[in-house]
Amino acid sequence: MNAVIRTENLVKRFGHVTALDHLNLEVAQGETHGFLGPNGAGKSTTIRVLLGMLRSDEGRAELFGADPWKDAAELHRRLAYVPGDVALWPGLTGGETVDLLGRLRGGIDKRKRDDLLERFDLDPRKKGRSYSKGNRQKVALVAAFAAEVDLLLLDEPTSGLDPLMGAVFNECVKEAAAQGRTVLLSSHIMSEVEALCDRVSIIRKGVIAETGTLAEMRHFSRSRVRATLKRPVDGLADHDGVHDLKTDGLDIECSIETTALDAVLATLAAAGVTALTCEPPSLEEIFLRFYGDELAASGVPNGEGAGTEGGGA
Ligand code: ADP
Ligand code: MG
Repeated sequence: MNAVIRTENLVKRFGHVTALDHLNLEVAQGETHGFLGPNGAGKSTTIRVLLGMLRSDEGRAELFGADPWKDAAELHRRLAYVPGDVALWPGLTGGETVDLLGRLRGGIDKRKRDDLLERFDLDPRKKGRSYSKGNRQKVALVAAFAAEVDLLLLDEPTSGLDPLMGAVFNECVKEAAAQGRTVLLSSHIMSEVEALCDRVSIIRKGVIAETGTLAEMRHFSRSRVRATLKRPVDGLADHDGVHDLKTDGLDIECSIETTALDAVLATLAAAGVTALTCEPPSLEEIFLRFYGDELAASGVPNGEGAGTEGGGA
């Protein structure tokens, strides 16, 4: 793999908190990579090491084969960064800020900038100090998407945007990917990652718990199957990989591991099928496999937990 980002056994400690605990992350050139984990998992720490803003304690980090700590000046011409909480120069206007950030990077596409200002519905004439959180975020996003860079490091970049702007953001990420840019998108919003990312890394307590395409992750997960049959079926529960089977007359419902789908569908077909739905696992369900116990222990109901405080101690 032609990796733009590579970390090897990266360790970062803050006092006795180990924020990154031998983290191995690889992002290939041109891919949009989702970086998924609840608060406190280590996403921002990883990104700040990649930006050369934090020095790691052990292991290696590489961007374009270079060292983000030593080669920061060169690397920052090739990348744009958007944090979740954007700070701006209070006395510069949004437009001045976008242009300044563009000059610090590899340059800016002015037509793209104007187009983005319109799409994000941002008035570039206001001073930094008078923008709301969402508008500060838009300034940073316009600057990042208009910059002529190879890599976008986006750390929960939509946290201050309303849903309409979330859709604009999604389009912009797709356009960046179509232009061959590499994107690392940290997020705890499953639908955003599901819609945009080629591959996903799930981070848990400073370690990558799982990396792969969504299809690969689904392969190890369960689909939800509902069927109405013509005749009662026997032996469904005997199949390996069938879980949570519920039978109500001729209606059945269960979760099935992908590897067991063939055999189960054959059994259903033998009984005759009048209706059938099969839903693949959502990224959220895959995610909960890694975090379910932790979220349950913290008293957060399933499904809501992904976006709430998960660690931080
Ligand atoms: P995420 O971005 O996934 O929410 P972070 O990388 O911000 O997670 O945090 C990972 C862990 O490191 C957390 O336990 C957090 O409290 C701790 N941490 C992060 N930055 C600092 C810091 N500057 N000083 C002390 N602890 C920190
Ligand atoms: Mg963070």
